[in-house]
Amino acid sequence: MNSAPPPNEAALAPARTHICVDCRTLLAPGERCDLGPAHRVVSLADAPGRRSMLGEIWGSPEVRKSARRAAQVGAGAGAASSLDWCTGCDGVADGEGFLVMIAFMLIAGVFMLIFYALRALYRAYVAHRDRQLPCGAGARAASTARPKGRDGTIVRERSTEGPLSGLPCAAWSVSLSAKSFLHGPLMLSDAGTLGFDVQLDGGAGVVRIPPGRVRLEAPTVFTRKAGDPVAEAITDPIDPLRAADPDGDLIPYDEAREARVEVGQRVRLHVELDEIPDPDSAAGDYRGPPRMLLVPRGVPAIKAL
Ligand SMILES: [Zn+2]
Repeated sequence: MNSAPPPNEAALAPARTHICVDCRTLLAPGERCDLGPAHRVVSLADAPGRRSMLGEIWGSPEVRKSARRAAQVGAGAGAASSLDWCTGCDGVADGEGFLVMIAFMLIAGVFMLIFYALRALYRAYVAHRDRQLPCGAGARAASTARPKGRDGTIVRERSTEGPLSGLPCAAWSVSLSAKSFLHGPLMLSDAGTLGFDVQLDGGAGVVRIPPGRVRLEAPTVFTRKAGDPVAEAITDPIDPLRAADPDGDLIPYDEAREARVEVGQRVRLHVELDEIPDPDSAAGDYRGPPRMLLVPRGVPAIKAL
């Protein structure tokens, strides 16, 4: 009999304090990125890892310093009054001299207004040109670095909740992305499940996806903006120092997106499969060979069809 207690979701998601620099996948300590041995993994929980990631996202310390200086110059555009220049209005002239003075003041005022407007436009242009853009990663297809997919349908799930929506599902993914970026918009990616079964097409067997991390490629069904308490509840435990670090944000995102799959969803599995006896049927059944199950070798990649 299989009497294993239901897994605790918190236990399934140990503090994922490491991140893949190349694809921004959130990882547990000691875990390698499943997209390839060349993918670099750093810790967000220690100073060297943070410095390394800051360099990847915002550039070298020198670049960050000059960008901050440029931003300060752009923000420092003065809002001087167009009448600041007028310091000679102590006396009032008479007749023709008075009219000449008024005309002079009007013409000079127009030129000063044009000057301040052009200066403000130039400073805005410089600030925009020199603004810091975070470097992110591009989204990867579920088939990236994976074997050819096998199609099937999710037939059983141990229901979990989407982290952003709180809605039940078999598996979820959350991606944090920035609108202004270099290289790619993705700043952080995470996905998980409490486990589900996929019935492969053509009677090719049942795949049992175990609890843990997955890769999920599916349409976005829920979004939250940066600053939303639910979205911040995801980022804060990963990088609690981000708000206090004046040197730059390690997770500079504008939008958090959630994707989900549930029972009945058609999926394509991109993962090597091993065949094992079904632990639910093998024990105590002496009438024949045990029913077999297929299980993924490594982190399963799932594409919603
Ligand atoms: Zn990676």
